[in-house]
Amino acid sequence: MQKYKLDTLCVQGGYTPGNGEPRVVPIVQSTTYTYESSQEMGALFDLEKEGFFYTRLGNPTNDVAEKKLAALEGGVGALITASGQAASLMAVLNICHAGDHVVSSSAIYGGTFNLFYKTMKEMGIETTFVPPVSTLEELQAAMRPNTKCVFAETLANPSLAVADLEAFAKAAHEAGVPLIVDNTFPTPINCRPFEFGADIVVHSTSKYLDGHAVQLGGVIVDSGNFNWDNGKYPQLTQPDESYHGVIYTRQFGKAAYITKCRTHLMRDLGAQAAPMNAFLLNLGMETLALRMERHCTNAQKIAEALENDSRIAWVNYPGLKSSPYHELAQKYMPNGSSGVISFGIKGGREAATKFMDSLKMASVVTHVADLRTCVLHPASTTHRQMNDEQLKEAGVPADLIRFSVGIENPEDILADVYQALEMAVK
Ligand SMILES: *Cc1c(COP(=O)(O)O)cnc(C)c1O
Repeated sequence: MQKYKLDTLCVQGGYTPGNGEPRVVPIVQSTTYTYESSQEMGALFDLEKEGFFYTRLGNPTNDVAEKKLAALEGGVGALITASGQAASLMAVLNICHAGDHVVSSSAIYGGTFNLFYKTMKEMGIETTFVPPVSTLEELQAAMRPNTKCVFAETLANPSLAVADLEAFAKAAHEAGVPLIVDNTFPTPINCRPFEFGADIVVHSTSKYLDGHAVQLGGVIVDSGNFNWDNGKYPQLTQPDESYHGVIYTRQFGKAAYITKCRTHLMRDLGAQAAPMNAFLLNLGMETLALRMERHCTNAQKIAEALENDSRIAWVNYPGLKSSPYHELAQKYMPNGSSGVISFGIKGGREAATKFMDSLKMASVVTHVADLRTCVLHPASTTHRQMNDEQLKEAGVPADLIRFSVGIENPEDILADVYQALEMAVK
C-alpha cells in the first residue's frame, strides 16, 4: 500500500477485497467473533495471536479505517476512537501517570485545553502551556524532570496559529520525550507531521477526514519512530501484569505504543469507535484529497476578497501574505492549510452577531471543517469557559468569527458574505 500517493491511498488504502468479496468495505456490525477452540481464543487474549475477538478491542470495519489513516500519515499503526477528545486523552494517558507533566502549545482546540487545564490536572497530570511559536530556549525552560510528552496542534482551531513543529520536536527529543501533534485541520493531505519530527499524531475525524458531519470520531497514529527504551516509560518497557507480563517494546517493537493504547487503554476505558462510524469515516476519506484541494482554493479566494473589503477589521488566513503564520505555513503545509479562515468585522462583537444572523447559505453551527460552509463565534460558544486572558493566549479574540469555507461555488459563498455584511455594517 505504501507505494501509492496520498490521493490514491484515500481511495484504495486499508482494504483490498479478495475474490468474490464485497468491493465496498462491509459494515461488520458484530460485537464478537467465533473460534473453534477456547485455546485459540485464549491465545488472542494473551496477545500471542492477532485476530478479532471483541469489538471494543478491534473490528474489521474499524481496521480498514485504521489502516488507511496509518498509511495516510505514514505511521506503523493507528487506533480509531469514539471522538477526537478520546484520542487526545488516550494519546497522553498511554504514557503519562499521576505525578507526570506535559508541555503543550497554548494554541490548541478549546476542548483539548479544558482537558489539559482541568481534567488532567485533577487526575494529577500537570500541563505547562507555551506559545505555538517558541524558541528552543523557551521550550527547554518549560521541561521538567517528570515531563513525559510535548503536545502541539499543527494548525490551531480556531486561532489558525501554525505550530513550529521542528522546534517542538527538537525540544521534546532533547528531553527524551515524544511530540504528539493534533493534525485535524490540515489533514495528512496538507501536512504530515511525522516528516517534521512528530512521533504520535491525533485527529478529530469528525472534521475534514469525514467531511460530511455524519460521525464523531478520533484517531491516534503511531510513527513507530520514538525510542521508548530510555528509562522514562516503564509502562512500555516493563512487564504488564494485566497481560501475563507482556513487555510491549519487546513483543511489538515499533508498534509498542499503539498496541498498548489498544490492548490496555481501550480495554479499560472503552472509548471505541462504532463500526458504522468507521464505515462513514472511510467513505468520507475516499474524497478527502479532492475536498481539501477545493476547500483551500475557495478559502484563499474568500480571504483575499475580505482582506480588500473596507468593512472588515482584520482577516487571518495562513494563505495570506499578511498572516503572521504565512512563512511557517509555507514550510509545513505548502499546498494549502485548510478551508478555515477567521476575521473580525468593524463594529466588534455586535456587528459579528448581526453578520452571523444575516447569513443565508452558511449555517451557524458548532462544527467546522465540513463540506458545507459554516460559521461560529467561538468566544460565545466553544470557548466561553475561557476568560479574556486565556482567550488572548489561545489566539481567539472576542470578536473573532470562524468561517469554515465549504466546497460550494466560491461566488455563491462570497455573495452570501456580502449580503450579510450589508446588513451588519451600516
Ligand atoms: C473538534 C476537534 C477536536 C475534538 O474532536 P471531537 O471529535 O469533537 O471530540 C480536537 N482537536 C481539534 C483540532 C478539533 O477541531
